[in-house]
Amino acid sequence: MSNIRNCTRCGKMFNYIAGDVICDVCKKEIEEKFQEVKKYIQDNPGSGLKKISEDCDVTAKQLKKWILEERLMFSEDSPIQITCENCGARIVTGRLCAKCKATVTNALNDTVKQRQQALAAELAKKQAAQKSDSKSGMKFLKT
Ligand SMILES: [Zn+2]
Ligand SMILES: [Zn+2]
Repeated sequence: MSNIRNCTRCGKMFNYIAGDVICDVCKKEIEEKFQEVKKYIQDNPGSGLKKISEDCDVTAKQLKKWILEERLMFSEDSPIQITCENCGARIVTGRLCAKCKATVTNALNDTVKQRQQALAAELAKKQAAQKSDSKSGMKFLKT
């Protein structure tokens, strides 16, 4: 099934599959830009978002997206301050610090575990019910 959409970056029509509504040509250009920005930050660790965005000709929005995707990292002395969304601790990339991330992951794991246990218990109950059913069925057949 084809899904023709307009690229949100260049406006061209393309066959959309998943993720951002961006055509392959633009995706490649963005990737090249990312490598350029990454190198720029390595070479100029003291640059702020505005300077990076001007020097590399990339929007601050795109830079922030890369930060949230944990693709761009900033050193301790960088003027770009990224803080944990949960506790406000200074972090180098992403949205959460390592500690909060671990807590979130643990909480998620617990929920998954609980759900799996509940499912397993239900399944066992069903199987037990089926067994007794087939047993009574056999009895019925015999008599
Ligand atoms: Zn495009
Ligand atoms: Zn935190």
